Amino acid sequence: MHEVSDFADPSRISAVVDGLRSVDGAQVSTDTAFSSLTTLRLGGTPSAVVRCSTTDAVAQVVRRLDDENVPLLIVGGGSNLVVADQPGALVAVVIEADAVTMSTRGHGLESTAAIIEAEAGAVWDEIVQMSVDAGFGGLECLSGIPGSAGATPVQNVGAYGAEVSQVLDAVQLYDRASGEVEWVSPESLELSYRYSNLKFTDRAVVLAVRFELSIDGMSVPLRYGELARRLGVDEAEAAAGEIRRPSDQVREVVLELRRGKGMVLEPEDRDTWSAGSFFTNPIIDESEVETVRAKVAERRGADEAVTMPVFPAGAGQEGKAKLSAAWLIERAGFPKGYPGQGAPARLSTKHTLALTNRGESGDGTPTTADDLVALARDIRAGVHAAFGVTLEPEPVWVGVSIDG
Ligand SMILES: Cc1cc2nc3c(=O)[nH]c(=O)nc-3n(C[C@H](O)[C@H](O)[C@H](O)COP(=O)(O)OP(=O)(O)OC[C@H]3O[C@@H](n4cnc5c(N)ncnc54)[C@H](O)[C@@H]3O)c2cc1C
Repeated sequence: MHEVSDFADPSRISAVVDGLRSVDGAQVSTDTAFSSLTTLRLGGTPSAVVRCSTTDAVAQVVRRLDDENVPLLIVGGGSNLVVADQPGALVAVVIEADAVTMSTRGHGLESTAAIIEAEAGAVWDEIVQMSVDAGFGGLECLSGIPGSAGATPVQNVGAYGAEVSQVLDAVQLYDRASGEVEWVSPESLELSYRYSNLKFTDRAVVLAVRFELSIDGMSVPLRYGELARRLGVDEAEAAAGEIRRPSDQVREVVLELRRGKGMVLEPEDRDTWSAGSFFTNPIIDESEVETVRAKVAERRGADEAVTMPVFPAGAGQEGKAKLSAAWLIERAGFPKGYPGQGAPARLSTKHTLALTNRGESGDGTPTTADDLVALARDIRAGVHAAFGVTLEPEPVWVGVSIDG
């Protein structure tokens, strides 16, 4: 496998990178920092950044780098990346191929579904908007998630009770071991909560994705209490049934809810200089739930312990329960905005689950990736000490680790 931490000789990398300048659709730069490629706006300068405007260029560039054993990182919108201040010898391959086509399965009144096919570099939220405008249903709950279409299967993006796996029809992969390009079924990716077998591996690059959507303009069934409530649907009814609403209405409410939590990118709003939810919701054995609850009772009192959110972990996770990372973080003594004014990296003031870059510390020193990593370690250690639960980071870490 190709590990980004592999030793690599800078002069050899530089020769390989020079060779990439002749690839059609590839643009090479050697002075672009990850801070300009990531939504956290952190991370130093890699050996090179290669922007690829076609999927052919992506495959060619990755093939050449792999042939020469040059460590590389695929980058879409950079919204799920924590990159070191010194990322080391590494080439960032940024996918900018963004063609999108829409069609239907069957013709006219015989149509049964809408099909959207997008190259990996297409901006995800533009696809959602396009689908809703066209009167299709299926993507609306995933409105406002930053990043690229190609990254959506990588961690099976999800929000407001929906996951991309519900509507994913096929994924086009460039297989880095065989050099083959092929369409594969979603089943082969083992999609589950914020996971696929593409995440944390270098086995393949997503070149394109295809979604099958409904043509009746209605959303997927509403499964998220707060969203259902805002749409005037009884929460219990929504949880039990198949309540759907027009996709444009659902998109509007989802965007409103997300903005309130700083989960839509706004350049002026430092609460959105983040990687979204920084930790996944912990999944533990059902038998451990009462042990955690007892620790909450010890620390916060019995009244609070009974309110601890516990959800079923989902399909394929029988015997497991899902806890709320945000709830545990707050109860462990990390309020919104922690550790407070002047700190270069802080929890969002709108949502405890987002770690944010405030641009600089109180004395004007620019925020570094190390500042953010220190905050992540602090929170993880605090939650573990308080409740015995180990939080796992959701983003992909490059050149740096939460374990120290
Ligand atoms: C404000 C905010 C809110 C967010 N809300 C959500 C949310 O509600 N739900 C959710 O699931 N996520 C959320 N995220 C996380 C993030 O937006 C998603 O994970 C998104 O899909 C990442 O896309 P990207 O193109 O930015 O990926 P990047 O950050 O560029 O890459 C992430 C990982 O995927 C790999 N990758 C990217 N593209 C490809 C490709 N084409 N082929 C193979 N590997 C690839 C990269 O190598 C890297 O390992 C949020 C992030 C932010 C900043």
